[in-house]
Amino acid sequence: MEFGAFADAAAEIEALSADTEIAERVTTLFEDANADLAVLARFVQGRVFPAWSSRTLDIGPNYCYEAIARAAGTNVSADDVEERLAEVGDIGEVAASYDFGGQQGLGAFASGGGAGGGNDLTVAEVAERLDDLAAAEGSGSQDKKIDILFGLFNRASSREARYLARLVLSEMRIGVGEGTVRDATAQAFDVPVEAVERALQVSNDYGEVARVARDEGEAGLDDLDLELGRPVQAMLAQAGTVSDALDDWEEVAVEWKYDGARVQIHHDPEGLDWAVGEGDATEATGGAAAAADADGRTTAVFSRNMEDVTDPLPEVVEHVEEHLDAPAILDGEVVAAEDGDPLPFQEVLRRFRRKHDVAQAREEVQLDVVAFDCLHAGVPESDDSGARETGSRAGDDLLRAPLTERHDRLEGVLESGVSSLWVTDDPEEIASIEAEALDAGHEGIMLKNPDSTYSPGRRGKNWLKRKPDVETLDLVVTGAEWGEGRRASFLGTFLLSARADEETSEAAEFETIGKVATGITDEELADLTELLEPHVREQNGQDVEIAPEVVFEVGYEEIQASPTYSSGYALRFPRFLGVRDDKDPEDADSLERVERLAEKQ
Ligand code: AMP
Repeated sequence: MEFGAFADAAAEIEALSADTEIAERVTTLFEDANADLAVLARFVQGRVFPAWSSRTLDIGPNYCYEAIARAAGTNVSADDVEERLAEVGDIGEVAASYDFGGQQGLGAFASGGGAGGGNDLTVAEVAERLDDLAAAEGSGSQDKKIDILFGLFNRASSREARYLARLVLSEMRIGVGEGTVRDATAQAFDVPVEAVERALQVSNDYGEVARVARDEGEAGLDDLDLELGRPVQAMLAQAGTVSDALDDWEEVAVEWKYDGARVQIHHDPEGLDWAVGEGDATEATGGAAAAADADGRTTAVFSRNMEDVTDPLPEVVEHVEEHLDAPAILDGEVVAAEDGDPLPFQEVLRRFRRKHDVAQAREEVQLDVVAFDCLHAGVPESDDSGARETGSRAGDDLLRAPLTERHDRLEGVLESGVSSLWVTDDPEEIASIEAEALDAGHEGIMLKNPDSTYSPGRRGKNWLKRKPDVETLDLVVTGAEWGEGRRASFLGTFLLSARADEETSEAAEFETIGKVATGITDEELADLTELLEPHVREQNGQDVEIAPEVVFEVGYEEIQASPTYSSGYALRFPRFLGVRDDKDPEDADSLERVERLAEKQ
């Protein structure tokens, strides 16, 4: 396809506002695409490389202005281009405002000899030249990049220049998002949108998925698998509460929320397979360089944004090489520690960005990896049952397996550095896991649906990061219950009350609002018993009435209206945070504050 035809389509799409019309126009573009389908499926979104690829054009805007200026003529400078850009705010419009064509130079000749041969730019040629541009490295590479771009602009019509400039600077903005490309692919090649969606999740390559949908139909899409070495989008979490989790699921899978940075680890003891599917270099833009990159690596590490961060993180590679002996794709968190205590995640991110002197960086900030999920697992080398197939694809894709099974497979392949996962329906156990996580210096806990599948790129309801308590309450202890069994000699389950009047006065009245039993260690129970026993007024079996003397700071997830307590409110999931030695009962929180907090929720 001529690049001009793509530019025309882009201009038409940009002029449309209804999503359905946009999807229809993209559908026609795909139907007419022939050999350029894969490239067009990316270009139309403003992407040059597949979504999984870490490749970038790596060209700063100034170099792009320089190339435009050179193609525009001797009396135009990069500064002029920048000035116009400041006025109109769209690089496409700026590029379209010049009259390109007459300039001679190295780049003009160089690109004249490309695949198109003639004067009209083709889509394939632009893709190839941008591939060359991305591949230019080392000294003089910026000049080479400018030459290549100059060569392209010099042959572009004003409309072509508009979309070329936007493509190069990743500012396509014609209203085509991932969903549009997904729908247009399904529509153009008559395949179910769900099949396209699944194929996109595993391959992360809109170009390849469009081509397979057209050439191999639904069956071809279903055959697309995860590839070792090709990252998929990470599953995401949303904020939620323990009550949400217990309301929605029978049991909750609880894990620490490690304060670090997300990584996806791909490993194959026999060498990573960097294949990006069939097709020539243009179909698989990015393939050539990625393959050249393989250099026999057996481990690759990707960041949350799917950038290749293998080189800056040698500890992760070493850990995996030592403890994982099966082909696998793992999901986890990298944490930085100093004398056993986690460092803030910014320290970890700094290591991710480090390109030089990695050995020294590594001495300054040491990293550990904790894997919490497993997307693909092969048979361990040490498993001599003979079941191991040869080839790097050996193993199972686990995206559709339930979380607990994925975690079991993770434990089966990785000997060390696996998250602990507790499956429980007991809020007290959840609270004590959270207390341990916080004690260990981590952020809190994750609550996961034990039966859920892995949904790449989704911020669904199956992974909840427990919301931190927004505002705590200082409440007076007005009762307690003696414990049972091992805890029989301790007071536990403390009855809490808020001050009834707004005004602080010594004759304060109190209304009950809830009971707290969680978040208290055995040691603390002993201390609290000693502190409260002198204030016991009356005993009735296990129940004890206590004079209002001691104030607890209490966290909770929600305040609900409830007839159970005299205040008319109840705390959901209350947790003991500490004794407020500095507060007298009359300084405790009032019912009015409770009411205000309840309204704010
Ligand atoms: P947030 O970044 O606040 O949206 O929280 C989600 C992030 O927590 C994930 O992307 C992970 O990087 C991180 N995380 C830490 N521990 C876990 C865990 N056990 N399970 C899932 N994600 C975790």
